[in-house]
Amino acid sequence: MAGHEAATPTTGRPHGARHTADRFAAVYGAAPTGIWAAPGRVNLIGEHTDYNDGFVLPLALPHTTLAAAAPRTDGVLRLHSGGADGGVVELRIDALRPTAQGGWAAYPAGIVWAMREAGLPVGGADLHYDSTVPTGAGLSSSAALEVATALALNDLYALGLEPQRLARIAQRAENAFVGVPCGIMDQTAAACCTEGHALFLDTRDLTHRQVPFDLAGEGLRLLVVDTRVKHELGDGAYAERRAGCERGARALGVRALRDVSGAHLPEALAELAGEPGVPALVRHIVTENQRVEEVIACLDAGRTRAIGPLLTAGHASLRDDFAISCPELDLVVDTALAAGALGARMTGGGFGGSAIVLVEEAAAAGIGTAVTEAFAAAGHLEPRIFEAVPSAGAHRLQ
Ligand code: ADP
Ligand code: MG
Repeated sequence: MAGHEAATPTTGRPHGARHTADRFAAVYGAAPTGIWAAPGRVNLIGEHTDYNDGFVLPLALPHTTLAAAAPRTDGVLRLHSGGADGGVVELRIDALRPTAQGGWAAYPAGIVWAMREAGLPVGGADLHYDSTVPTGAGLSSSAALEVATALALNDLYALGLEPQRLARIAQRAENAFVGVPCGIMDQTAAACCTEGHALFLDTRDLTHRQVPFDLAGEGLRLLVVDTRVKHELGDGAYAERRAGCERGARALGVRALRDVSGAHLPEALAELAGEPGVPALVRHIVTENQRVEEVIACLDAGRTRAIGPLLTAGHASLRDDFAISCPELDLVVDTALAAGALGARMTGGGFGGSAIVLVEEAAAAGIGTAVTEAFAAAGHLEPRIFEAVPSAGAHRLQ
């Protein structure tokens, strides 16, 4: 991917535990007790299904957030990040209040709050973070930050929590303390993914399964294209889509749209004719859950190339039915497909952020260049392009 390296975190290789330990020591004047890592993620397929009790299939990126941490006995929480200005943020853990803390420190502070609210014996700590997860690109730097923090505290205070419990604590922190109404996918991906796999998560009962995803072994690459745009209508549109899906479920008399089968879809759409805007949302959710199952069937059968058209169909559904794409995301998908990609789709919440592109290894550089050139010709910012290598979930480094 020559031509992209200089400006972008193309490899996702972390700064290294040594660097982060040194930074911790420089900030706090002593060595950390340990270093923990949690990854960013991309969602292979299953978009906006998570708040409909549906299916998602994320994979962890090699891009990680490292947390160096040491416990404190005085109930003080000190937070510092190489990725944020403003120096050390110092808080008292017994004074943490939902939505009162602004800025980036709300994410890690929210973890301490959520653990204490759950009755867990967690005290103060000093924390320093370094990250190679791009922020605000739809790759879930927020969940990486949360889960790295949760895992560090889990070890510092010998809480003995399972990865999925840490993910639920992280979601609670983001929902209630930070005030962002996200689903459970991002935190589960950061906590539970394993190398060489995508993670099939049923967001109704939170059961999950590791699905083999051996891109390199099959001569394939999965590119992530960060468009570097985030259109402002994003948050309101998310709430609107969510409310529309809930309206659809209520009108159909089901607990969630997850309960509408593909076979029942035509009938459901007819029933919803009197609910403007809702049928298209329902069609996306129902067909998207089917696509997740079809992608998994392909991967289980070792037919990775066959997922390409399913990814592309997912994009069309998000663009036309869910109406959350944008010109930049459509340009990535259209250009990549015209240049020979096997499949491509926007990933994440929509209105900007990143797209994923499945390509033959030999075609990766050419397709990347085609996308970059198309962006230049359209007058867009230069996109950041890197490879999504299915990587490990959160773990302790030292
Ligand atoms: P995404 O999760 O898609 O990257 P969000 O808006 O959910 O986007 O989260 C991004 C926010 O998370 C940043 O604005 C910042 O507040 C916080 N954040 C993430 N990683 C870090 C980090 N390493 N250091 C400081 N803040 C971070
Ligand atoms: Mg986020």
